[in-house]
Amino acid sequence: MKPKQLIINKICKKPAPGCGVCNPVSSATVGQMETMGAFFPEAHYDPLKMYELSRASYELLDYDGIMPVFSVVIESYAIGCKVDWGKSDTMPRITERLWKNYSDINIPDFMSNHAVKAVLECITKLKNSYPDVAIIGKVFGPWTLSYHFFGVEEFLIKTVLDPGQVHSILGRLMEVTVKFANAQVDAGADVITVADHATRDLCSPESYRDFLIPVHSAIKERIKAPVILHICGDTSDRIEYICRTGFDSFHFESKVDACRAVEIAGGRISLIGNINNPSTLLFKKPEDVRREVKNAIECGLDIIGPECAVPLFTPIENLREISIATKEFSERG
Ligand SMILES: [Zn+2]
Repeated sequence: MKPKQLIINKICKKPAPGCGVCNPVSSATVGQMETMGAFFPEAHYDPLKMYELSRASYELLDYDGIMPVFSVVIESYAIGCKVDWGKSDTMPRITERLWKNYSDINIPDFMSNHAVKAVLECITKLKNSYPDVAIIGKVFGPWTLSYHFFGVEEFLIKTVLDPGQVHSILGRLMEVTVKFANAQVDAGADVITVADHATRDLCSPESYRDFLIPVHSAIKERIKAPVILHICGDTSDRIEYICRTGFDSFHFESKVDACRAVEIAGGRISLIGNINNPSTLLFKKPEDVRREVKNAIECGLDIIGPECAVPLFTPIENLREISIATKEFSERG
C-alpha cells in the first residue's frame, strides 16, 4: 500500500497493514533547513522555500506524510495581526492583539494574502511531485484564533464573564478555519489538521464540552477531507468529548498514556502521535525513541509521530528513528 493510502486508511479506521508514520503538525528543524537549503522565516511565506523544507519529512525522515504549514500565524496574519516572523531558529509569533470584542471582528478577503497563497501553491506543488505521499494541510480552530485576535487572557476572561459572546466569536471565526481548510483541500491536501489549543490549563473539560463540541462538530461536517484534531498537553479528560465531534483522528501528546488514549477512544477515532518532544526527541538517543514507538504500537495507535511541532534543534536521527522503528515493529511488509 502506498504511503498516502496507508495514512488515509489509518486516519479513517479502514483496513491497512501496520502503522503509519507522520507528524500532522510541523517536523521542521534547523538541521533540515541546512540540508534542504530552505530556512525560516522565508519558508513560512515563500512557496518554493516552504516546498523544499516540507519535503524533508519524506526525503530525510521517510515519513508517510508531508505537512508544509510550519507556523501558527498564517490566517491571523492574513486577517491583520502584526507578526514577528522570527529567525531560522525561532518560530513566528503574533505581537499585538487585533480586537477587543465580538463587534470589532472584521474579516477581510484573507485568501488573497501572499502567505495564504504561498501555502496553497506549495500544497499543489507537493501534490504534483509526491502523488503517493499523504499531503497534510493545517489550519487553526476558532479557540486558537481567539487567542491570536483577542489575547489569551482577555479571551479566557470572556469565557467566564460573557459566554454568550464567546459562542458568537467561535461561530464567526469558525468560518476562517473552514474556508482556509477547504482551499487547502482544493489545492491538493489529502487530509487537514485542525489545531485548536483547548489545552487543559487554558480550557476545562466542561468548557470543551459546552463551547467546542458544537463548533468542532460543525467544522468536521464542512471540511471536504478527513480531519485530524491536534490539542497539546494532557487531554485525557476530554478525549471522550473529542470522540463525540466526529473528527476522524486525534493527534495527542505523550502526557496522555498511549494505552489509556486507546482505551477511552474505543475505536471511535483514530489516534496519532505520542512520541515525546521536549525530552526524548530533543535530548535522548534513537534507542529511547524506539522504546516509545514500540510502546505506542503495542497500545494500538494508528499512526506514530512526534507529539506536537518539534523543537527546532531536534536531531534528524531521532526523528528518522520514528519511521525506522514504526516500519519494523508494526510489520508493514
Ligand atoms: Zn501541540
